[in-house]
Amino acid sequence: MSARVLILAVEGCGLLWRLVKMRLADLQRRQPLPPEVADVYDAARYRKYLDYVADNRRAALVFGCIRLLLTALLWLSGLFAALEGALGGNPYLTYLAACGIFLAAETAVDIAAGYYDTFHIEEKYGLNRQSKKGFAKDTALDLLLEVFLMGGLGLLLVFIGEHMAVWTKGFSVGPAAALLITAAITAVISLFALLSALLSLWVFKKQYTFTPMPEGELRTKIMALQEGSKKKVRLIYVYDESKKSTTKNAFLLKLLWHREFGIADNFINENAEEELLAVLSHEIGHLKHKKNLLNYAGYALVALVFAAVAWLIWQPSPILRMNAWVRASFSLTANNYYALLGTLSALLTPLLRITGTFGRYRSRQEEHEADREAVRNGYGEALIGTFKKLSSDELVNVNPHPVIEFMEYDHPGMAQRIRAIRQAEKALSARE
Ligand SMILES: [Zn+2]
Repeated sequence: MSARVLILAVEGCGLLWRLVKMRLADLQRRQPLPPEVADVYDAARYRKYLDYVADNRRAALVFGCIRLLLTALLWLSGLFAALEGALGGNPYLTYLAACGIFLAAETAVDIAAGYYDTFHIEEKYGLNRQSKKGFAKDTALDLLLEVFLMGGLGLLLVFIGEHMAVWTKGFSVGPAAALLITAAITAVISLFALLSALLSLWVFKKQYTFTPMPEGELRTKIMALQEGSKKKVRLIYVYDESKKSTTKNAFLLKLLWHREFGIADNFINENAEEELLAVLSHEIGHLKHKKNLLNYAGYALVALVFAAVAWLIWQPSPILRMNAWVRASFSLTANNYYALLGTLSALLTPLLRITGTFGRYRSRQEEHEADREAVRNGYGEALIGTFKKLSSDELVNVNPHPVIEFMEYDHPGMAQRIRAIRQAEKALSARE
């Protein structure tokens, strides 16, 4: 089998899964809404929600198919062999050229899809407040970040791949040296990850205007909520989400030792103070999170990946064979890291699906945990009220299919979430 067939098969499975999800969502919509969320929408608003879903689905299908078609054509074309001929087989240049062409094709579709989504769909349902100029600026900044990530990380991997034979003295080092090399690679990639996080933070700060929350009653109340938490957040900002959308959000941003709260101005302008405090109490719940079995399982997974990389440096024949297979599949005589990484990620897709599902499960559990903190502070009902209002305002699917929720939601679906909050309230009042 050619590596091209593998990549196309994996892409095809992705499309198939999207179609399956649409079918599941249809089946779920035929069920009556669970009592917890039955009153989120009134009849007229629910009609609007259904139209919104239909519009989104049509756009997602059209743009999804165009994107798939374009990438499939690129993988099937003689692009890689042509680049090798034109660039003399230089692995850095062939990676950059292939990456640039794929990125250009995919970005063109994504920008068109984003534009249509923002100025046709979101606009039609009154959810958009962004100007075209603002959209252009945000898109340019996102692209900059992507170029840095794909280009930088890719070149780093090409460098590592090209020097591996030298570092391992022709792939003949023992396990101890393999571990050492893996540790060095991990350190460099972690540094790159930190740089990317800093850059994405910078981009995020450029896309919004952040204003420190002034001293006053609200700020004092937010600080009071944090009593009893070892970690405290003193940087509290309000950001101008109202320039882009009607979304109301508050988040806790963490990077190394840096922590800050960001609160959308929409939230402060349009919601009761109690609802804002309820959401912030939830965020403080995240701050108080204690490491649990799920976290340690996550660390074990990372250790396993580390061990697998070290093992492959010690016993590299699977990787060398795979590289030879990729070269043969694309009629290449030199290494092409874009083709190699593309094949590797296709091979790893099932594994990444599983770890992703695990990660999202853990995230949902942490959301429930943070909700319980809000319940302890007496904000359970205010939190539920906020969720219901937000869901209706932003046309949220309040009753996702359980299979889709399990596999793809990093926050619990509304019905689940409200049910869990009510349970926590009951448990709390039973103890008092
Ligand atoms: Zn949360």
